Amino acid sequence: MWQLIALIVCLAGALVLAARRSPLWLWALALLAITSTWQIGLLEGHLEVPSFGPLSLLGWLPAVALGALSIPPLRRSVLVSPAFRFIRRALPRLSEVARQSAGAGTAGFDAELFGGRPDWDKLRAVPPMTLTDEERAFLDGATEQLCRMIDDWRNRHDQDIPEEVWRFLKEHHFFGLRIAKRHGGLGFSAQALSLVLGKVASRSPDVFTIIMIPNSLGLGELIETYGTDEQKRHLLPRLARGEDIPCLALTGPASGSDAAAMRDVGTVTRGRYQGADTLGIRVSWDKRYITLAPNATLLGLAFHLFDPDNLLGKGEDVGITVALVPADHPGVVIGSRHLSAGTAFPIGPTSGKDVFIPLAWVLGGEDMAGQAWRMLMECVAASRAIALPSCAAAGVKSMLRVCTAYGRIRRQFRSPIARMEALQEPLARMVEAAYVSEAGRAVTAAMVSRGEKPAVISALMKYQTTERLRAAVNDAMDLHAGRAVCDGPANYLQSAYQMVPAAITVEGANIVTRALMAFTQGALISHPYLGREMQACQDADEQRGLAAFEHAVLDHVSFALSNAAGAFIHNLTAGRLAKVPARTLGTARWHRQLWRASRNFAFVADVTIVLLGARGLRIRQRLTGRLADALSELYLLACALKRHEDDGMPAEDRPIVAFAAQNGLYRFQQAMRGTIDNFPVAWARRLMKIVVFPLGAPYRPAPDRLGHKIVRLVLEPGELRDRLTRYIYLSTDPNEPTGLLEVALEKAIRAEDAEKKIDRAVRRGLVRRYHGIDWIGDAARQGVISEAEAELLREVEALTARVIAVDHFDPDEVRPNYMTPGDNIRAARGAAAEWSQRRAINRASADEPAG
Ligand SMILES: Cc1cc2nc3c(=O)[nH]c(=O)nc-3n(C[C@H](O)[C@H](O)[C@H](O)COP(=O)(O)OP(=O)(O)OC[C@H]3O[C@@H](n4cnc5c(N)ncnc54)[C@H](O)[C@@H]3O)c2cc1C
Repeated sequence: MWQLIALIVCLAGALVLAARRSPLWLWALALLAITSTWQIGLLEGHLEVPSFGPLSLLGWLPAVALGALSIPPLRRSVLVSPAFRFIRRALPRLSEVARQSAGAGTAGFDAELFGGRPDWDKLRAVPPMTLTDEERAFLDGATEQLCRMIDDWRNRHDQDIPEEVWRFLKEHHFFGLRIAKRHGGLGFSAQALSLVLGKVASRSPDVFTIIMIPNSLGLGELIETYGTDEQKRHLLPRLARGEDIPCLALTGPASGSDAAAMRDVGTVTRGRYQGADTLGIRVSWDKRYITLAPNATLLGLAFHLFDPDNLLGKGEDVGITVALVPADHPGVVIGSRHLSAGTAFPIGPTSGKDVFIPLAWVLGGEDMAGQAWRMLMECVAASRAIALPSCAAAGVKSMLRVCTAYGRIRRQFRSPIARMEALQEPLARMVEAAYVSEAGRAVTAAMVSRGEKPAVISALMKYQTTERLRAAVNDAMDLHAGRAVCDGPANYLQSAYQMVPAAITVEGANIVTRALMAFTQGALISHPYLGREMQACQDADEQRGLAAFEHAVLDHVSFALSNAAGAFIHNLTAGRLAKVPARTLGTARWHRQLWRASRNFAFVADVTIVLLGARGLRIRQRLTGRLADALSELYLLACALKRHEDDGMPAEDRPIVAFAAQNGLYRFQQAMRGTIDNFPVAWARRLMKIVVFPLGAPYRPAPDRLGHKIVRLVLEPGELRDRLTRYIYLSTDPNEPTGLLEVALEKAIRAEDAEKKIDRAVRRGLVRRYHGIDWIGDAARQGVISEAEAELLREVEALTARVIAVDHFDPDEVRPNYMTPGDNIRAARGAAAEWSQRRAINRASADEPAG
């Protein structure tokens, strides 16, 4: 018994010391005290302490060792210095590209999660959504107007964006939303850009794309940040006005995800430009998948620059460079199109062979030659945080909006399909995704608005939100079934369905983003000590490096011990001792679990980083992918809690927050379990299991009854449904398919009681409901329903007939895709001329009175 108590006391003492990040000398003193007490107790026979025999003497050894290591010169010569030299030798020399990537982007709340003690006030400090009057007016004015004028079916059918839309975009400066006012743009914040992009994406993913490119990597931001004064003065106003349509050409046939491996090459040389002898670059390239390339007038061309004669004084291998090349420059081949999954935005290849361009066209001028990778990575960190997450969040919200309406209007087995338990599962998923994606979008956009370039958060937001979009679109397709499969003017899901693969692929394909960027890159950027240790080991000044290394390693060791102890304590106490920020009424429970989960993540992440090392992190992608998922779940949970707070903690939203939190924590747990169960080092696997799951796996998915509850809430039109689907384009035009849904939904709900009466009458054989029979009239005549109810039902029948109608075409109207693109587009154009007439016919037939 005494032995057990003594062991528990020692263990508790060690946990407290570790959790409080005590210095080495305190550990030494504690060990010394325990060992001495033991020995004295044994010798004097006063204490009834157990004897471990000669083993008790072993306590002196670690006490003395730790004591010795507390003396800096001794520690340095015995331990730190040899370790430093070993790591310095073993560390691979970073390539220029890797060095530039590592230095690009900033750490944000991800660093708090990597640190295991998330400071909620740092997230609170990210301002809730704020827009200037001008931004709000643009969102409610020009953006709404644009959405109203977009004809999604026509774009899809023509595989083209009509000229009037291009004109409108240019006139209203949609291509210069982020370009500063002094350069002719609108100077909007990232938050405003995100909302404009989201609203347009909810109307047309194609038009979203053509706005997104110029406002993200498509040159405006690159030129504004890195361009020479002349480039800014000349190009930015033209870009802002849409006089120049830009594209960024990075990807080639041999260089996709590994874009830095591009084979496009430039050589510094002298040549003739505008009749004069000019220092320039002779460049050859072969690029593909370049968005806007077919329409582009300005090409941001990335290539590897060499300078064999050292004319720039930077050595032979200058590095990756971007040049701003007018598309009409002799030798530039551009203009043909890929047909990208039926989408309408222009995308195509470009190439050139031995094209001479002046050096002045290098982005940022001669000084920035060879620095393009860092520029691109920094810009991508900001743009990836905005563009795709905005589109994805808007997409999920749109799916929820149309599914809750259609699911309530469409009846099968005498009941709205959304009331069927099996369909409540996808609907609940959508509610969660809509809430969480919007929360992540808003917080992340606000971070970028204040100047952050969150490298890790942007990566996880990109893959997480687009994966949620993919799930939501698939769920929406399932819910609509045949109604979603047949394309035509009435189909409001097809564009999203076609767009999903592009969203998954662009700005870093999701698989590689998850496996390599979110966690592996995150480890370097967001881990509190790893970056410092690496930097110290690579310091050219060995003594300075050693001192920095020693500092970082000592901090790292106490950080690791603290995480292990903290995680263990919180897991034993189910997070009851976890830190909860003030003013978290109703969500304190989730804050506690977030803190606890973050402790666990920090511990497992740290063990993984230390034991796998840089090479292991690149290779063990199933582990790093799971850790990326774990980190993402924590970030998104934090965003969801912040959203709840920023929204004023509406009680109605609480079940949604609970649903999202429970599922998020469960997915977090699955990711941690997967990591630990598959960890390649046996002792570490066992240690992590003990620390992270001492009492088994604590989290369960949200229960079905909570899912039913949130779906029930969102199936009612009103404040909650509007809040969940805010900032998307909402049509109220009954001649437009999503507007028709809204109008029909409101009436269908009003007619539900009358509908039930008719159902009962049909079951009892009082009324027969077949084509050619006026069953509503029959029911009214028999007193089953009142005249007013009959009138409402007729209206609902007519609206429902239109809601569930799908389009059909004469064979000549539609041409198969295997025709040559030219024929196909010509045929599509011919058919498009008739589409509005066809829609009118469809509508007219749907308008026929019921029965
Ligand atoms: C619609 C669209 C628009 C685009 N617009 C542009 C543009 O404007 N400018 C531009 O320069 N490019 C553009 N791209 C190119 C885009 O960036 C690339 O398609 C993307 O980087 C992936 O390259 P890839 O298609 O060659 O796939 P690959 O690189 O061949 O990848 C195939 C698969 O392997 C995975 N993978 C690759 N490497 C790894 C790894 N190390 N570890 C784990 N998994 C890995 C990927 O995740 C992917 O799933 C666009 C692409 C599309 C589809």
